[in-house]
This record gives sequence, structure tokens and C-alpha cells, in this order.
Amino acid sequence: MRIANLSGRLVLIADGRAVDVERASNGRFAADPQAVYERWREFGNWAASADLPAGAAFEPSELGSPVPAPRQTLAIGLNYRDHASESGFAAPEGLPPVFTKFATSISGPVTEVKLPAEGHTDWEVELVAVIGRHTEAVSEADAWSHVAGLAVGQDISERIVQLAGPAPQFSLGKSFPGFAPIGPWLVTPDEFDDPDDLELRCAINGEEVQKSRTSNLIFPVPALVARLSAVLPLLPGDVIFTGTPAGVGLGRDPQRWLAVGDELVSTIEGIGELRQTFVA
Ligand code: ZN
Repeated sequence: MRIANLSGRLVLIADGRAVDVERASNGRFAADPQAVYERWREFGNWAASADLPAGAAFEPSELGSPVPAPRQTLAIGLNYRDHASESGFAAPEGLPPVFTKFATSISGPVTEVKLPAEGHTDWEVELVAVIGRHTEAVSEADAWSHVAGLAVGQDISERIVQLAGPAPQFSLGKSFPGFAPIGPWLVTPDEFDDPDDLELRCAINGEEVQKSRTSNLIFPVPALVARLSAVLPLLPGDVIFTGTPAGVGLGRDPQRWLAVGDELVSTIEGIGELRQTFVA
């Protein structure tokens, strides 16, 4: 199953077309895309058996984030060995670094992003997992059953703010407006042959800068859900940015930053792509 946020309304995507959920369910499920995660299992059962009307065509630019207003966004640092290495850190062992991307940074999949003046703005393609039920101290073995689905995420990062001050400001430097595009839709885990092994990549103006597989994650999705939920409850509709592989601008020699006019395309196998254009 694929769900999306089309102009602020929850839709099911079938054969590339959008079915409005509130109308198709005669009001049983609300139009608010964020609300569906509270009733995720009930919604999945309905969607699997409903006699859906024909969908409508749409443009990717009309999509918002399939999870537009999570109560918690947890983002993971240094979760691929090659990225930890290019960043000058040892790979984490017990618990990876965790920060947040504040709610106002979340956007849909196709956007224009304003570059902070004097900034060093960098790219980080990441698999995003969205929680589908109350999750407290779950085991790795049970973790996938707590995940509503997967999406593509970009953890856009401004390195000057991130690295200023006596301790790194991960959350602030990664939370400028539009710095957390998510989409293009949410794909349920059952849609993948192996949800723990997906190719992810991103390109700037057509030049590939990152390419890896989620099987290289030091802490894969089940390990993250287990370790995070051992500390705090994960709530329906919460978001986990799972970390980025090597190839970011910070780790290059010379370093490279996004510039006005650049187009960043981020892709994950079996999900789809994000497309960000950077403006002054
Ligand atoms: Zn990141």
C-alpha cells in the first residue's frame, strides 16, 4: 500500500493515481494525512478490502509530506561506517547519536529550498521510517510490525550552524525551513522483497554524489526502533531519519556545498524520489 498527501488530503496511490480517502471511505477516515497513523491497522484493513473508485492523475509537485506533522522526529547520525569515517568519527557502538529535525523543517517531495546566506549547505539522502502504533520497549524481532511504512528523506544540513559553539548543534543546523523533505509517498514494508536492503542514492544536477544500500546501516530499522523505544515511547506518526551513507559535501576534498540553482534528486529503490531546487 502507498499513501500520500495530495494538497493536504490523505490519498491512496493505486496505479500511479490518487484516491481521496475521506471521500472513498464516506468520512470514516479523515482527510488529515497525519491522523491516519493513530488508526493505522484499522486503515490498512479497510484499504485492503475497500472497493475503491478510479483515482485521479496528479503532479509530484502537488504532494506534501506523507507525514506532515509528527509529534517526534528522531534523526540518527553516523549510521553508515563510510560516512562516520568521512566525518572524522569512529562508528558508534552502543547507541548512535540522536538529534531532531524541528517540525517546521518538514516539507513535501518537490520543493524550492532557500539557502541560508553565508551557509555551507550539505546533502544527506536517508531512508525514513514512520511509526504506525504505540511503541515502547519493543524487541528487534517485533520492530517491523510497529513501522507503518518507509519514505525517502533528505537531511539537508547547514554545517556552519551545525558545528558552531562548544558542542555540535545538529538539530538547529538541520532545521532551516524546507530542510526535511519527505516523500514522495509512504510505502508499507510488505511492498518490499527485503525492506532491510534498499538502494539509496542522490545526485546534484545529474552527477551522482551518494550511493549505498540500507543493508549497510550499522543500526538497521529494527535495531533503531528497539533501541529508541527502550528510552522513550515512539508514537503513531513519529518519524525516524535513519542516517546517511558517504558522499556528503563535508567529507569531500575540497569540500563542496549546495549552490543557488542546484537541483538535488534523492532516490530510494522501491519508493521513489525527492527533487529539491536551491534558491537564494
Ligand atoms: Zn543525517
